[in-house]
Amino acid sequence: MYPIQMVDLQRQYQRIKEQINTSLSDIMEKATFIGGKYVEDFARQLAEYHRAKHAVTCANGTDALQISMMALGLKPGDEVITPSFTYVATTEVIALLRLQPVFVDVDPKTFCLNPEEVRKAITPKTKAIVPVHLYGHAAPMDEILEIARAHNLFVIEDNAQGIGCDYTSKDGSVHKTGTLGTVGCTSFFPSKNLGCYGDGGAMITNDTKLAETLKMVANHGQKVRYYHDMVGCNSRLDAMQAAILSVKLPLLDGYIEARRKAADYYDAAFAGNERITTPYRAPYSNHVFHQYTLVLDGVNRDNLVQYLAEQKIPSMIYYPVPAHRQKMFDSFGGNSFSLPVTDWLTERVISLPIHTELDKEQQDYIIEHVLKFVNKN
Ligand SMILES: *Cc1c(COP(=O)(O)O)cnc(C)c1O
Repeated sequence: MYPIQMVDLQRQYQRIKEQINTSLSDIMEKATFIGGKYVEDFARQLAEYHRAKHAVTCANGTDALQISMMALGLKPGDEVITPSFTYVATTEVIALLRLQPVFVDVDPKTFCLNPEEVRKAITPKTKAIVPVHLYGHAAPMDEILEIARAHNLFVIEDNAQGIGCDYTSKDGSVHKTGTLGTVGCTSFFPSKNLGCYGDGGAMITNDTKLAETLKMVANHGQKVRYYHDMVGCNSRLDAMQAAILSVKLPLLDGYIEARRKAADYYDAAFAGNERITTPYRAPYSNHVFHQYTLVLDGVNRDNLVQYLAEQKIPSMIYYPVPAHRQKMFDSFGGNSFSLPVTDWLTERVISLPIHTELDKEQQDYIIEHVLKFVNKN
């Protein structure tokens, strides 16, 4: 049996090695490391994949969120509604720009923003909502967009874990997550569903004017070289990462299919177990399984993690401390938010290995040991 990892990028690389190496040596021969054809081509492919007008690349997913908030002109003190049950980057950029994070509870089934709670959190200072398509399951965008329209708010989708997910709107139309709101932000961190071999990120939008501003902000606030119209930052996807992503993007749907198959296999094995809740799949979202996350009931999670580790099975808690309880947000009143579902989930979730190379032998081994522990303890 191959050693089990949370993600197996070594074996994935072996299948695309030739194409990747050809592109990378071409870049090195030509010494075109920054900007150029590979970056432009990838940005176009990415927009096409999303059936969106524009994709603007940048250095990482965190920057994508920050650049979006800067380009939309959010100002210190503006309130931004965000889940606390997310990776820290979502909420950190809000604080970095001296905006006020307004932490809102999630739905215990989808792990994503609960629209009822979003509605309650709106004040005259609210300027934006940041739905996170956590673990690869879409947030309930119809409801969120309706609230945003009613209150004239921006919707900045954190699609770092959701890239490739199809969202079916109430009118029956199907759109990629990341194209439903004002702007969609994603990350190409190596372990993401579409990962490069370093850092990378992008913003997707159908708003041509916003796309121009996003490009400017990511490039020192300049449209014409050395003429800086606004304060920006320096955030770019380099040519090597773009070339790698151009090889991998056509494979993304296949990668998602492999993840979904692995999830189906886990689901069938854990079905009916009283102590295990398998991932919910809302009819509006086709889950892309960036993570396969169980909710445990009456199981000592720390002991399970340790037991699995002893069997050489990695597992992860995403995330052990929700944002509103991080010290980072003390001065933003983090602890004053009451988020019972977030706290409840934080104590009960566990993510099992899921990736494009996971095979049945490995999954059988993982399943056997999870069930052995859960049923005994
Ligand atoms: C990975 C991730 C980010 C940040 O992406 P980086 O490329 O690591 O900066 C933001 N939000 C979520 C939900 C993520 O999973």
